[in-house]
Amino acid sequence: MSDHPEIEFIDLKAQRQHIGKAMDDAILKVVHDGNYILGEQVGQFEAGLAAFCGAKHAIGVANGTDALILVLEALGIGPGDAVICPSFTFAATAEVVAWMGATPVFAEIDEATYNIDPKSLAAALDTARKHELRPRALITVDLFGQACDYDPIEAFCKQNDLVLIADSAQGYGANYKGRIAGAIGAFATTSFFPAKPLGCYGDGGAILTDSDEHAELLRSLRFHGKGAYKYDNVRVGVNSRLDTIQAAVLIEKLKVYAEEIEKRQRVAQRYTAALKDLVTTPHVMPDCVSTWAQYTIRVDAAQRDAFQAALKAKGVPTTVYYPKPLHQQTAYKHYPVAGNGLPISERVAQEVVALPMHPYLDEATQDYIIAAVRAALTSKASAA
Ligand SMILES: *Cc1c(COP(=O)(O)O)cnc(C)c1O
Repeated sequence: MSDHPEIEFIDLKAQRQHIGKAMDDAILKVVHDGNYILGEQVGQFEAGLAAFCGAKHAIGVANGTDALILVLEALGIGPGDAVICPSFTFAATAEVVAWMGATPVFAEIDEATYNIDPKSLAAALDTARKHELRPRALITVDLFGQACDYDPIEAFCKQNDLVLIADSAQGYGANYKGRIAGAIGAFATTSFFPAKPLGCYGDGGAILTDSDEHAELLRSLRFHGKGAYKYDNVRVGVNSRLDTIQAAVLIEKLKVYAEEIEKRQRVAQRYTAALKDLVTTPHVMPDCVSTWAQYTIRVDAAQRDAFQAALKAKGVPTTVYYPKPLHQQTAYKHYPVAGNGLPISERVAQEVVALPMHPYLDEATQDYIIAAVRAALTSKASAA
C-alpha cells in the first residue's frame, strides 16, 4: 500500500485521454486498408512534418539512429573522416559516426545550456587535423529540447566547409530566434521513440533537408537503393522505412504538438519559479523556446544518489541523462577529444537529474513533486 500518488516520469497514457479516439480510428484505418509499408499516411505525415518546421523535405525512416546513419551514408562519410560531436549526449550521436568507420571527435559543452559550445569547435577541428583526419561534418544535439546556439555554429561550419547535421531527436520543433529546429542545418534528424517530445507507438525517425538532390538519394537509400521502381536497384541501400501505422499515429500527434509544446512551457516555468532559489534550474537562451524533452536540474554530485532516493521514497521518479559522457564510455574512450579534455561534460554528468516532465502534468501533482524536491534539498543542506 502506498500513501503517495502514482507519478509517471513521462505520462504517455495522459495524452491518450486527449487524442485516444481519433488515434484509435487512425490506426484501425491502416489495419483495414492494408498498406502497411509506405502507405499514403507516410507521405502525408512527411509533408506535415516538413511544413511544421519549415523544411522542404522530410523523409520518414525506421528510427532516429538510422536517420543519422543515412545522412552520413548520403554524404559518403567513412574511414579517414572526422565528425565533430558533443560527448554529453545519447550514445547514438557518436555511435553512427563510428559505425560508418569514421572518427567522432568530441567537443565540449556550454555549462549553462549543456549544448555543444561553439567556442570548443576550433579546438575540435584542430584535434581532427592533428590526427590526420579529414574534418567533414558537425553533428549538433539539441539536448533536452533546447536548440544549440546555431548562429556561431553555422558560421563556423561555413568557414571550415563542414556539413551541419542537427540531431534534433529531443528538440524537433524548438524555436531558435524565430527559426524552428528541424529546419536548421543542412540536415536535421529526429526520433519518434515514444518518450521523445514527438513520439509514436514504437520506433520511428525522420530526416529533414532543403536539398532536392539529397532528399531523393535518402529516399532511395532507405529502400534498398531503389531506382525508378521497386526492383530497380541502382545503389547499395538498407531497409529503413517509417511504418504506415506509426505515420498514422504521428499525424494525430502532430496535430496537438504545438499545443503540447505550449503546455510544456507552463510546466517548466512552474518548476523554475518554485525551485530556482534552491538549485540550478535549466537556462533557456533569450529568444528561444525549448521543447522540454527533459527538465534537468543540477545538484551536488555527492548528494545526487540520496536526492533521487528521497524522491523515490515519495513516489517521484527521476532519471539521470546522462551519467557518463561518451568519451569516458568503454566503446568510445579511444576517440579523440577537443583540447585538453572535457571537464565540463564530466562534471555536469555527475550533477544532472531530470524531474517528471510531460504536457499533461497537472498542477496538484507538480506541486507535490516540487514539495518533495524542496524537502529533499533542504534536508540534505542541513545534514551537510
Ligand atoms: C533518442 C535519440 C537518438 C536515437 O533515436 P532512436 O529513434 O532511439 O534511434 C539519437 N540522438 C539523440 C540525441 C536522442 O535523444
